[in-house]
Amino acid sequence: MLGLLQKHCPVCGMDVDKNTAMKRFGKYFCSEEHAGQYAEMKMARDIERKDYEDRGSGGGGCC
Ligand SMILES: [Zn+2]
Repeated sequence: MLGLLQKHCPVCGMDVDKNTAMKRFGKYFCSEEHAGQYAEMKMARDIERKDYEDRGSGGGGCC
């Protein structure tokens, strides 16, 4: 039951104290560095997916 209050950094899995942790994207990180790392990972995944969706739509081009 106590585990519900325990937060972990999604990058390294370290226990974080939600009073001192960095909060980004609704998640708690052990450090600003890992928050940034998570943002990069998330962005890379989003771009990959967007690229795949663009290809699936049959192109069209912008401008
Ligand atoms: Zn971390």
